Amino acid sequence: MNLYNSLTRSKDEFVTHTPGRVEMYTCGPTVYHYAHIGNLRTYIMEDVLEKYLRYTGLDVNRVMNITDVGHLTSDGDTGDDKMLKGAKREHKTVMEIAKFYTDAFFEDCRKLNIKRPDVIVPATSYIGEFIKVISSLIENGYAYEAGGNIYFDTSKLQKYYVFNDFSEEDLAVGVREGVEADGNKRNKTDFVLWFTKSKFEDQELKWESPWGLGYPGWHIECSCISMKNNGEYLDLHCGGIDNAFPHHTNEIAQSESYLGHPWCGHWFHVHHLNTEGGKMSKSKGEFLTVSLLEEKGYDPLVYRFFCLQSHYRKGLMFSWENLDNAAAAYSKLAAKISQIDNTGDIDKAEADRLRAGFRAAMDNDLNTSLAVTALYDVLKSPVSGAGKLTLIKEFDEVLSLGLLGAAEKIKNKNPEGDEIPDEIAELIEQRKAARKEKNFALADEIRDKISALGYTVEETREGTKVRKA
Ligand code: AMP
Ligand code: ZN
Repeated sequence: MNLYNSLTRSKDEFVTHTPGRVEMYTCGPTVYHYAHIGNLRTYIMEDVLEKYLRYTGLDVNRVMNITDVGHLTSDGDTGDDKMLKGAKREHKTVMEIAKFYTDAFFEDCRKLNIKRPDVIVPATSYIGEFIKVISSLIENGYAYEAGGNIYFDTSKLQKYYVFNDFSEEDLAVGVREGVEADGNKRNKTDFVLWFTKSKFEDQELKWESPWGLGYPGWHIECSCISMKNNGEYLDLHCGGIDNAFPHHTNEIAQSESYLGHPWCGHWFHVHHLNTEGGKMSKSKGEFLTVSLLEEKGYDPLVYRFFCLQSHYRKGLMFSWENLDNAAAAYSKLAAKISQIDNTGDIDKAEADRLRAGFRAAMDNDLNTSLAVTALYDVLKSPVSGAGKLTLIKEFDEVLSLGLLGAAEKIKNKNPEGDEIPDEIAELIEQRKAARKEKNFALADEIRDKISALGYTVEETREGTKVRKA
C-alpha cells in the first residue's frame, strides 16, 4: 500500500518493523466536551485505514490514549486547562467530566461503525510511566527543571521541526497575543513535561513526583502510552493535521531522545472538516455532534458516507446541502442493493477484477472515494446477485457503511415486494426524516408526490409498505 507520510512528505510504501504486524497509535480525544463531527472525521478515516490494513492480511495492534489531564487550550504550554474548563462549565469534578465524555465518545464511535481500539489508556492511569520517562530524560540531559516545572530541552536535538513545514514564525505558541511567554524556557521551542508551578492554583488532579506535587504535560502522554503498548518501534502514528505541530513534533523529540533510536516511520494526518467560519472546533462553542445529526433525522452512517466520498488529505467543507446530497446517494445505493437477488454462481475472474479495483483505490493513499466507486462498479457488473452481495459485504467490512443492513431495512419496509424505483426510495427516506422531525405537513406533501408517481405508502406495524397503485 502507498500511503502519504508527513515525515517524508511523499507517498511511501507502507512497511512495518515486524513483517505482518502493524503497531498503530492514534491520538485520542480530550474528554472535556462531546466530540464534534470534525474530530470524528479523523477517527472515521483512521478506522478505515486500520480496517483496510487488516483486510490485506496484516495483524494490527491499535492503541489510543484518552486525554483526561494536561491539554491546555493552546496545544502548547499556555492557555487554560481544557479539563478544568469543562468541569467548571458543568459544576462537576474533572473525573466525572472525563467519564461522561469518554462514554459519549465511544457511543458516537459505535454509531459511526468505528471499531474500538485494541488498547485504550486514560492518561491519568499512567502517571508512574510518565515519571519514569521524564526522570530518564533529565538523567540523559534532555530535560531540565526551571521555576518548578520540567522542560524538554529542544536545543539538544539535531533536528526539531521534523515535519519540515514549520519555521520559527509558526511558533505562535507561547508568544500569542495576550499570553505571557514562559520565562523559564531556555529555548522558545522547549515544552513542559511536568508542571508543578502553573497558573492553575485550583488544578484538581495532582500527583506526587520527584519534582513536587504536579501533573504531566499533554505531549508526554502519547509518547509513554505508545512506547508501553506498541513497543519501541511504532509503525504508524495517526491524528488530525493540527496535531502535527507542536504535539507530534514534541512526541518525536521525547520518544527518540528516550529510546536513542528512530521511533515511528509513518505519520498519517487527516485534514480538517471546515465550515464557512473555518475549522470546526470545540473551543468556538458551537459545533456539530452526532446526536445533533440524529435529531435532525440523519443516520450517522450518512455522515460516514459523506466523509468517505472525499480524500482524507483535503479539507472537507461541511454544509447541510452537502450532507443532504450524501443522504440521497446513500439511500439510492441501499435501495439498489435491496433489489439484488441472492442467487447465481460467483464468477471468480470477474469478482477478482472488481476486488482489484477496490484494492487499487485503497492502495493509492487510501482513496476512499474511488473505493466507493468500486462499490458502484460491483452493482453495474455482470456478476450474479450472490456474487454482488458477497463483494459488497467484503468491501463494507472496510468501509463500514452498514449497506446490507440499510438494504435489509428497505426490504422490510416493503414486505409486499413491489420493486421500488430509486426516485421513490429517496422520497420515502425524505418522508421518514420529515416524520422524525415531526414535520407532518412536509411528510404529507412527500406522500402526495409519491402517489403522483403511481405508488401508495402505508404505515403498518411491520414498517412502511409501498405498493404500485
Ligand atoms: P481533541 O479531542 O481536541 O484532542 O481532538 C481529537 C482529534 O480530532 C485530534 O486528532 C485532532 O487533530 C482532530 N481534530 C480536531 N479538529 C478537527 C477538525 N475540524 N477536523 C478534523 N479533525 C479534527
Ligand atoms: Zn497524541
